[in-house]
Amino acid sequence: MRAMHPQEDWVKPLKEDRVRPQMKCAQCGAVTTRMDLHLKKQHKLASGTEEYTTLMGKATPYVREPEEDEDLERVLREYR
Ligand SMILES: [Zn+2]
Repeated sequence: MRAMHPQEDWVKPLKEDRVRPQMKCAQCGAVTTRMDLHLKKQHKLASGTEEYTTLMGKATPYVREPEEDEDLERVLREYR
């Protein structure tokens, strides 16, 4: 009897894991993979300052929510 390897199917390629997570700026809502550079360029904050540290801490991971599309479709269906 042949052994099953169910995990093989969902092993992700390494490259995908290396993509930087997108972060959302707590100050202006901009989405960027380089929050450190964003704070320096857009908000003129130097690293190590209190505001910079606060905003870095407040930045939230940005994930696209697939539910949004579903909701839109449902709303459209109900509208008709
Ligand atoms: Zn910002």
